[in-house]
Amino acid sequence: MPELPEVEVTRRSFADRIAGARILGVSLGKPLRWPVGIEPASLVGQSVKGVRRRGKYLLVHLGMSGSLLFAADLPPRGSHDHFELVTTQGVLRLHDPRRFGAVVHATDLDDPVALKLLGKLGVEPLEAGFDPSVFHRALRQRRAPIKQVLLAGDIVVGVGNIYASEALFLAGIRPTTRADRIGLPRATRLHAAIVDVLGRAVALGGSTLRDFSSAQGQQGYFQMEAMVYGREGQACRVCGGEIKAIRQGQRSTFFCPQCQRP
Ligand SMILES: [Zn+2]
Repeated sequence: MPELPEVEVTRRSFADRIAGARILGVSLGKPLRWPVGIEPASLVGQSVKGVRRRGKYLLVHLGMSGSLLFAADLPPRGSHDHFELVTTQGVLRLHDPRRFGAVVHATDLDDPVALKLLGKLGVEPLEAGFDPSVFHRALRQRRAPIKQVLLAGDIVVGVGNIYASEALFLAGIRPTTRADRIGLPRATRLHAAIVDVLGRAVALGGSTLRDFSSAQGQQGYFQMEAMVYGREGQACRVCGGEIKAIRQGQRSTFFCPQCQRP
């Protein structure tokens, strides 16, 4: 599943190029996860003001397998291209073989449709609202393992499986540690680690996983730098000990037993 950095990289790859474009046509393929909620033809003639991101939602939410392309010229629409916005500055196309993605129309973030999808999301990790002491207070309300709490996304969005594993390593916290047992100094370190990991991932173009590619078709490469993710049985880059893997909530978790304390 694409995580916040991949979605942000996608946004940056076409946001400037599509801004100000006038919509010439909209084509739909097979039904996606949720209905669009508007007659496609009514979008014709409107302008694209900008592309925003909230958590993993963009103009188009990228589901398990979706990817967005924006280009002046694209080959004819194929059977897995389920949404296409034709504008004066290029064509925005959603390619989504598994149809876990969706395109939903909302007038703004206060629109009931938007509130239903976005209203329960936690704060944005790369914006000023993500504060160490507020983060610590929120963690104190949770008894679940810290990695599960991060993945839930209702305290802070965008810390998916890879980035949770990496941030917990940088902060020296065992993924199984109960969230309410993490004191302010460790919560502050974890806060800094989340900002660092996600910031670097965006700068490096997101992680190369499955079929993710940004809207220009470039591949990210954050995975190349992983300290623990996907490194089971290999030597820890810090202490030389063996990286372990466990299952938490049906997801793989990687950690160093020596560097990360319960
Ligand atoms: Zn280690």
